Parts: sequence; structure tokens; C-alpha cells
Amino acid sequence: MADQERLVKTLMELIQIDSPSGEEDAMDAEVSSRLESIGLKVSHDSFNNVIARLSGEGAPIMLSAHLDTVEPGRGIEPLVDGGVLRSDGSTILGGDCKAGVAIILEGLIAAMESNNGNRAIEVVFTRHEEGGLVGAHHLDFSMVAAKEGVVFDGEGPPNRIILSAPSQNVVTAQITGRAAHAGLEPEKGISALLIAADILSRLPLGRIDEETTANIGRLEGGLKRNIIPEQAFLDGEFRSRSNEKLADVERKFRGVFEEVASRYPEAKIDLDIVNTYQAYNIDAKNEAVAVIGRALSGMGLEPILGSTGGGSDANVFIEKGIAAIPVGIGVRNFHTTWETAVIAEVLQGAQMCEAIVRGS
Ligand SMILES: [Zn+2]
Repeated sequence: MADQERLVKTLMELIQIDSPSGEEDAMDAEVSSRLESIGLKVSHDSFNNVIARLSGEGAPIMLSAHLDTVEPGRGIEPLVDGGVLRSDGSTILGGDCKAGVAIILEGLIAAMESNNGNRAIEVVFTRHEEGGLVGAHHLDFSMVAAKEGVVFDGEGPPNRIILSAPSQNVVTAQITGRAAHAGLEPEKGISALLIAADILSRLPLGRIDEETTANIGRLEGGLKRNIIPEQAFLDGEFRSRSNEKLADVERKFRGVFEEVASRYPEAKIDLDIVNTYQAYNIDAKNEAVAVIGRALSGMGLEPILGSTGGGSDANVFIEKGIAAIPVGIGVRNFHTTWETAVIAEVLQGAQMCEAIVRGS
């Protein structure tokens, strides 16, 4: 049976291993040795994502989480405060996604202890999930046989199941005008900031509809008070759970940039729009949903089927043909210094994972 004390100890130990994106080696070594001691066969792909196998009944199911965290995520000191874990306030907690990793480890340990048989399992711990799902994009899918899976990386309780998520396109633009002295010969200058402002005021931004959003999150430019700004840089994104609407927003963005460019023929505007992940919609009747539902019903919990405005490794797994569904890991306020992990819900996650491993 999943054990709260052991689970919290594991989670606190994992949180204290620094693993900002790109620096996952220590976490990798720790989880690989823990997986081996539980009885899994651990391998790595060429990106050093962790892929571990446990033989058992039936077709394998994938259990996944990611090894990295966002910043500020170094020297994290987790504290137990009532029924929650939190940091001392100077860093994130790293519950995203260490609670997911701890849930999978505890679920496996508890299922193996019960000695009651288990289904075949493939554990996938990715690197560099934050800021672009980089590990998942590099995952060697020839090393994964599972067609269904659970991604332990969602906000909220473990019965919160995310059946749809948006595509994201990243937008960057470099605008080059012409510098000139602002007092002596301003008519010779072309203000890149003014062009950026012109673009910003025309773009469709914010919530476009129920499943579509757009944002320019950063505008940089200019050098000094008395120089017409020659350079400006825009950094933004748009998302939609509908690929059609995503394409429509892209057309509108490109249209605005072209229109403004035609008003400033002497300026140079380099626009780059890149897709970082694809939307998905999983049918509520999918086998992975049924597996999660059976595990929850054994615990007396009802599944809460929902959608998200964010992306996760699940977007990539689903695009590659693995119906891997994100579930909550008991964590709140991802990516903030007030992130918390609700211990009772992390334990429920481990119980759910245990039931999935046991095939019950
Ligand atoms: Zn995460």
C-alpha cells in the first residue's frame, strides 16, 4: 500500500536535488538508481531521457513525468506546513514535476510490495520539459512500446484528467529602423519602437475565443533617451485547441506585420512564427481514460474530465500515437514561489498509480 511517510520523504529528497532545465544529471542518477532498486530495467535514449521497463501482464502502459524544473529552482528548502509542502518563499517548490516523479516511484514500490502481480510498465522520465517540451521532442519513440499512458504533470487533484490541450505557436519579430539624433535630425530616423507599437495595436491579442488566446509578452528596444530607436524585438505566442483557429490567428498575425511593413518601406521586419506543440483531443472512451477511471473508482473517486490552456509532454506523446493523458499531481500554483503540494492529494496520486501498476 502507498505509504504517506515514505512518499513525502521521497518527494522532499527529490525536491532538494537541483534540476533546472538542461541540468538534470543528478536527478537522472537518483531516479535511475531508485527505479533499478524497485526492479525496473533502466535505459536512456540519445537525449538521456530515462526509459525504464517492468515486465508484467498484458500490453505495457506508460507512466511519465519530467525531471526538470523552472527557476528560481536552486537550493530549494521544502517545508511541511500543515497538510502541504511549500518552499521558504525564495524559490519554487518544484512539486512540478517532482510530485509526479515521487507518485510514480511510490506507486511502483507499493505495487511490487503487494506481490500480487502487475501489468507491464514503461516509465518515461523526460528532460527539459519546461520551455519547449525539448526532451519529449527528442524522445526515441522506438524504445517505447506502450500505446496508452498517464502523464503525472497536471495541476490539482489526481482525479483531474486533461482530455484536451491547445497547440502553441511562438512568435518573434526583429524590427530594424534607423537611428538618428532625436534633437538634431529626428526626420532622418525611423523609430523601431513606433513600428512595434503600431504592430501591437493592430494584433488580435488576449482571449480570442473560448479555445484561442494570443499574447505578446515582451517588447525590447532602443538605446538612449536622445536616439531614435533603431532596433525593437517582440516575443509572443498564440494558442488554440483548434488547429483551424490557430492557422487563422497565424494568418491575421502575418497580415498585420505585412500591413505595417508596407507603411514603413525603409524599415526591416523579420517575423518568425514556429509551432512548438500540437493540440490534442482525447475521446472520453479512450482505454487510457478507462484505466485511470478504474483506478479511481477503487479509491471511491470520480474522474473530473477537463481541458487546459497549457501544453505538456502529453501533446508530443499523443502526436506520436501514444494516448498519454495528463492527470493532477496534487500541486497548486505551478511556476511560482508560492507553489504548494497538498500531501493528501499526492498520496491519492500514488494510490492511483499503484492501482494502475497492479492492473486493478
Ligand atoms: Zn510540469
